[in-house]
Amino acid sequence: MEYRNIAIIAHIDHGKTTLVDALFRATLDPGRGRHTEERAMDSNVLERERGITILAKNTAVEYEGVKVNIVDTPGHADFGGEVERVLGMVDGCLLLVDAAEGPMPQTRFVLGKALALGLKPIVVVNKIDRADARPDEVVDLTFDLMADLGATDEQLDFPVLYAVARDGRAFSDPGSPRDDMTELFETVLEHIPAPGGEPDAPFQMLVTTLDYSEYLGRIVIGRVERGRVGRGEAVAVIHKDGSQSRSRVAQAFTHLGMERLDVEEVSVGDIVALAGLPEAEIGETVASPELPEALPVLTVDEPTVSVT
Ligand code: GDP
Repeated sequence: MEYRNIAIIAHIDHGKTTLVDALFRATLDPGRGRHTEERAMDSNVLERERGITILAKNTAVEYEGVKVNIVDTPGHADFGGEVERVLGMVDGCLLLVDAAEGPMPQTRFVLGKALALGLKPIVVVNKIDRADARPDEVVDLTFDLMADLGATDEQLDFPVLYAVARDGRAFSDPGSPRDDMTELFETVLEHIPAPGGEPDAPFQMLVTTLDYSEYLGRIVIGRVERGRVGRGEAVAVIHKDGSQSRSRVAQAFTHLGMERLDVEEVSVGDIVALAGLPEAEIGETVASPELPEALPVLTVDEPTVSVT
């Protein structure tokens, strides 16, 4: 399977949930309307009621045989390094900006980190149906903000899409013949690189976030950096102090829509969840016992990126 891993950066109310919803809908069979009643990113409560713990912070859609993993980023500054960790899983970002409000100072922090990590942005100017929309000015303001944050020439050469997420429409110019989410998907596939990593090398993954399920206990989430791992397989957990412990993957999951799918195995490039590793902490590495090497933890101290 081919992958794209992207983050969405947006100020609150600029339409992130609506956009992800529109992306789901665009990839659903017309007969399978069951997601339409549920808002993807706000689905935690619903899912918990059903007894499944879903981290709606990780969602995925399939478009033309490519799985696009979408991770949510905190919309504001945080002090626990969560932004860096989450951005470390992706190769590009959608910067969603309200066509009337323009870029907001609260997204500066996350955007700055994304740019410092070298992520390629795609700017999506949403709500262009608003009577007070000023899309051209908003694009200029977004450019200025990125330049101010030290974006490279390549990052400043960002593609721009205009959207009415609420109606499931996105286009590169208002007269575009394509008036659905197709153009957004194609822009992602074209502009955001596929994740690297060797498929046949021993398994390795950095624990980026944790989740908890009543039935499975701790669930560790991250992007597979190399190789693959299957249900029941032995792994080494490399701890921060350099010590190692051995565990077994009880269950492996990928994401599809807002659901977590129980799968036989997970492989390089995908953002996955593993159960059965109660001793693995954020920032620690899960690897094949054959080659138990720790992955570096990214920290971004603008404008430099350091590896610790
Ligand atoms: P989030 O906080 O970024 O997740 O924003 P939401 O997706 O919840 O959207 C915030 C509000 O903007 C909601 O009332 C949406 O219905 C509205 N909204 C989203 N997309 C559009 C759009 O394309 N046009 C207009 N006019 N409103 C929109």
